[in-house]
Amino acid sequence: MSGPLSAADTRRNLVALSRADFDRELAPFIDRPYRLNQIYLALHRRGVESIDEITELSLRLRGELAQCFFIAAPRIAERRLSADGTCKYLLRLHDSATIEAVDIPSEERRTLCISSQAGCALACTFCVTGYWGAGRDLSAGEIVAQVRLINRESRSREPGSSQARTTRPFDDPSAAPNIVFMGMGEPLLNLEAVRESLDLLTQSTSWKRVTVSTVGIIPALEEMASWRRRPNLAISLHAPDDDRRNEIMPINQTYPLADLLACLRRYPLERGRKITIEYLLIRHFNDRLKDADQIARLLRGLRAKVNLIPINPDPVLGEQMVAPDEATVERFKNRLRQRGLFTTVRQRRGDEVQGACGQLRASGTKAHGVRARLRQGGDNG
Ligand code: SAH
Repeated sequence: MSGPLSAADTRRNLVALSRADFDRELAPFIDRPYRLNQIYLALHRRGVESIDEITELSLRLRGELAQCFFIAAPRIAERRLSADGTCKYLLRLHDSATIEAVDIPSEERRTLCISSQAGCALACTFCVTGYWGAGRDLSAGEIVAQVRLINRESRSREPGSSQARTTRPFDDPSAAPNIVFMGMGEPLLNLEAVRESLDLLTQSTSWKRVTVSTVGIIPALEEMASWRRRPNLAISLHAPDDDRRNEIMPINQTYPLADLLACLRRYPLERGRKITIEYLLIRHFNDRLKDADQIARLLRGLRAKVNLIPINPDPVLGEQMVAPDEATVERFKNRLRQRGLFTTVRQRRGDEVQGACGQLRASGTKAHGVRARLRQGGDNG
């Protein structure tokens, strides 16, 4: 990797540029317009690691580019495999920010859970990422690099694989994993990069295989509603009324339930699609049958399916944040089904490597989230 040589080095990392900045900054170097696309695809689809590797360009152009730019994609810093095959990756970005991505195997098709921000500002009380605090937006290149790196890594571990087979991991649609934006961050607060990343990812996988999960940032949902193609949508609901949602998701004060549900009712859905409603089950907080009834009322008339998620506990979340017992989960699920809602319960995966949802964290970083500060008596910055 050819990173910046010193603090005085003003070269820019191509991988971290938005498409608009990329076009603007490279335009002066380019003889023909199609070259921009050519370089962009070499970077983000082929995953070249140095400007020298973009052999479609003349030596001279590569030399000129290398004066002003370098390529530093995320790197795998750590890989932890759990007994059920779930593999959690810690990735380090060029500015040493860290993110996590999880590879969840399944008999039919793998699912890759990827991050859209290095941290999260939303401070939901049940989420470990929020505990650690805000970070920066990822670029589209950093988002797609997670998929490329993990595909490459997991293929190189397949029996009988050769490096030759791993060089173009994007291009085998039959092997394309499901991709869910359920790692660190709020994708709809980084919508431009997420959209660019979707354009790249859907060159080798179907929009139907990609899901974006959000707390429900209404203006961003409205923008997505105007897109020509859309990924699947998952909404983190987690509470049946505003009082309780405000308590665990501060963003609900900005986008309360009635407004969010109205927005979802207007949201255009392709034939056969449903909005996934994610509902964390937290013991003695939102797990009564009355709560299930309230959700059913809330979702009336919406093409939705419910995914119940017994909360994954974590020491930083405190003792309240634990899942109900299995019988309660079962009763809750059955009640929603009786009310006509297609309902599933999310299997816990990757627990022992802390790769389960909400447990993604940038280990080694110091917590600077609102709650972390409260917990540490305000002495943490
Ligand atoms: N900000 C987006 C994307 C992150 S997705 C969103 O909230 O939808 C992360 C998913 O994991 C969300 O459904 C989130 O609510 C869920 N989650 C967060 N903390 C969790 C925990 N402790 N146990 C189980 N799921 C959790």
